[in-house]
This record gives sequence, C-alpha cells and structure tokens, in this order.
Amino acid sequence: MKNQLPIFEKIWEQKLNWKPTKEQLDQWEKLYQEIILINDKVNLTRIVQPEEFWEKHLWDSVTGIIGLQFFQYSKKIKVIDIGTGGGFPGLPINIIFPTWNFTFLDSRRKKIEVVNFLLKTLGLKDSWALTGRAENIAHNSDFREKYDVALIRAVGKSSTCIEYILPFLTIGGIGVLYRGNWDIQEELSLKVTLKKLGGKLISVKELKTPLTDSIRNFVYIQKIQPTSKNFPRDIGIPKRNPL
Ligand code: SAM
Repeated sequence: MKNQLPIFEKIWEQKLNWKPTKEQLDQWEKLYQEIILINDKVNLTRIVQPEEFWEKHLWDSVTGIIGLQFFQYSKKIKVIDIGTGGGFPGLPINIIFPTWNFTFLDSRRKKIEVVNFLLKTLGLKDSWALTGRAENIAHNSDFREKYDVALIRAVGKSSTCIEYILPFLTIGGIGVLYRGNWDIQEELSLKVTLKKLGGKLISVKELKTPLTDSIRNFVYIQKIQPTSKNFPRDIGIPKRNPL
C-alpha cells in the first residue's frame, strides 16, 4: 500500500484554531503523491516520509498564513512565492485559498515546469509559475509593486530575502519570511535593511513544530513606502553583499 499523509485534525485545531476541509485534505494528498512520483526524476525535496512532509511542508507553509489579525483573508489577493522550488510554501496555501492569484517564481526552469504541472493537476486556475531571477523580474513593471503578499522560505539571509520581496509588494503589502532560529542581532540588521527599502517590521511569531519540537519563526513585514528603483541590485549582489 502506498504511503499516505496523516490528517492530525486535533493538531490543526489546537495549534491554529482552524482545520482543513475534506476537499483540502484530498488536494494535499494529491500534491504529496504527485511530488513523490516526480521526485524520482526532478529533485524537488529531500522530505518524502509522510509525517515529515506533513510537518515541514504542510504545517509549516500553512502556519505562516493562518490566523493573522492584520491579514485580509476575504479579498481575492495577489501573492508571490519567491524561490518556490517545488512549490513551498505557496502550494499548500493556494489549496486552502484557491481563488487567490499566486505567482510561483524560481530561477530553475525544471522546478517551474513541475509547479505549473502541479497547478494544472490541482485545478488551481488562477495561479501560474514563472522561471526567472527575483533580481530581474522585480524590475519588470508587470510585477513591480503588484503583490499584496510575498512569501519566501529557505532562499537566503533575511536581508537578502527582504531585498527580493520588497520591490514586488504594493504599499501596505505584507511579506512573510519563513525562518528557523531568530535572534535580536538578526532583527536589528533586518530593521536597518527594511528602512533602506521602504518597509517596517510588524511582528515575529515563534513556534515549535508539533511533531519534532523544532523552532520556527515567521517574520511579518509591511511595505510603507515605494522602494527605490536601485533595488533589487544586479543578479547575485543581494546574496553576496546583503544590505
Ligand atoms: N522555497 C522552497 C522550500 O522552502 O522548499 C525552496 C527552497 S530552495 C532551498 C531555494 C530555491 O530558491 C531554489 O529552488 C533556487 O533556485 C531559488 N532561488 C534562489 N535564489 C533565487 C533568485 N534570486 N531568484 C529566484 N529564485 C531563486
């Protein structure tokens, strides 16, 4: 019998005061089965065991977004997931909010082809995936300052991530940085970078993951002023020389 994802209804209820519907659970299962099949040909993730996939890909992705007071869930919002890889954190969230309009961005063409295939298989018609570097795409007027929300996980240092995401956000738009450990030093340097790019820190939510008790931090920022056209800097510079 093939491996199936656990449901863990009680954990969702206890931790987030929320639980997925039967339809959303079926969609997550479909996402998992497709990723496991494709992973043999295109390296999307090391995380393939059902419980680990549930915790590191589903729980983590969704926890960054559910239950935020400053967030407008009822609107049909535009979201960009930068450096999405195999579609995380965006895909599990898009399954919960199928009318939101997601752009999945990654510099690797093969991964983007897979994400486009997954979107089609899951029937997420209002979303699409795009190959490109954040440093280039953020200067294109079709994308610059067009997004209500920007998500970024495991793409680099927080200051690098901020330089990637701020140019994409509308004024008032929210950025979510998915981080592991977080300390005061990192927060101070993030605040300096945010000031240069027209953003402010809203809050940092620290949690332990429900199965393995690992530390997770979700860092929420908001764009409050336009970002100078000088940002993001040329390809590779935000990573090599963070602001
Ligand atoms: N976000 C996914 C996750 O958490 O599973 C993938 C993380 S993976 C470690 C980092 C991804 O970011 C890679 O797929 C890489 O191609 C992409 N990436 C790194 N720098 C990028 C850039 N400047 N623009 C677009 N994609 C980038």
